[in-house]
Amino acid sequence: MKFIDEYRDAKTAQRYARVIARMTTRPWTIMEVCGGQTHAIVKFGVDELLPKQLTLVHGPGCPVCVTPVELLDKAIAIAARPEVIFCSFGDMLRVPGTGKDLFSVKAEGGDVRIVYSPLDALKLAKENPQRQVVFFAVGFETTAPANAMSVYQAREQGVANFSLLVSHVLVPPAMEAVLSSPNNRVQGFLAAGHVCTVMGYTEYEPIAAKYRVPIVVTGFEPLDLLQGIAMCIRQLEQGRAVVENQYARTVRREGNRPAQELIRKVFHVIPRKWRGIGEIPQSGLGLRDEFAAFDAEHRFNVAAHQVAEPAECISGLVLQGVKKPHECPVFATRCTPEHPLGATMVSSEGACAAYYRYRRSSRVTP
Ligand code: SF4
Repeated sequence: MKFIDEYRDAKTAQRYARVIARMTTRPWTIMEVCGGQTHAIVKFGVDELLPKQLTLVHGPGCPVCVTPVELLDKAIAIAARPEVIFCSFGDMLRVPGTGKDLFSVKAEGGDVRIVYSPLDALKLAKENPQRQVVFFAVGFETTAPANAMSVYQAREQGVANFSLLVSHVLVPPAMEAVLSSPNNRVQGFLAAGHVCTVMGYTEYEPIAAKYRVPIVVTGFEPLDLLQGIAMCIRQLEQGRAVVENQYARTVRREGNRPAQELIRKVFHVIPRKWRGIGEIPQSGLGLRDEFAAFDAEHRFNVAAHQVAEPAECISGLVLQGVKKPHECPVFATRCTPEHPLGATMVSSEGACAAYYRYRRSSRVTP
């Protein structure tokens, strides 16, 4: 398939692997930030091609995984209201809140719908003026422009029965949280190509300089990942720490300026709690005061409450690259995609789900 096959060619992959092996003279640990990259690495066995000294650890870049239980409980409370049509991307529906998930709300008669874009939810709001339509706006910088556009259009078009339940998080503060942790073992990053398509990569340059870590903006296909790893290793071996762009077919240094402008118009930067990690300062997006009327948390006045994570779930350590999924004592036994204890098992981008799907027969570190 054009534009896919050329990035999955086995012979080229093996050539890259040999180049990486020749370059690697000592142990290094690299984190791929994005859950989509984690899935590609595990699915295609990219890590199994690498030399033993090289360890890939999986980062916090799965927005579903890091959405706090408190916010899921708010989503569930709003979705259960009779006047509400609650819209979400499909992968949020099975993520467990404290007592149930959004699928259970749907099974109990709640009007919960899977949509593919916030603009579909806005259309539903226009078609159902007597109902309240809420879109669960989960994601990193990648999904922020479309979510911003939906609210912007709702205001311009006077669609008062539309609102967003916002759970947006930002990548650079999460990378800094990983690097500042006393448990940190990450020496280089593969940054998420799609996030950088929107935001560019100037935000990463001060991080590379401050923490002396190479950061390579990387795509999602096996050859993208191998090339990104090779670029990162080259920097590590040479003692350099700058931002480089492997995903140049999509990413420009300055990113997509009109999309950034739209994000800034609608959202502002706020502190956010990350599931398993805790609050990270300036790590999320919330609606600006001008758009507060479209904020579902205010509109439905759902109470905030503190929720403890299941004690045996170590997803916080998995999301920070400190542990691998199969090191969790209940991985693939008491925790499976059918009965997930933590969001990294239920989300399609979660590291635990990737290990379960592709490696559950061998609970051995590659
Ligand atoms: S296997 Fe399950 S319980 Fe263990 S870290 Fe992953 S999500 Fe949490």
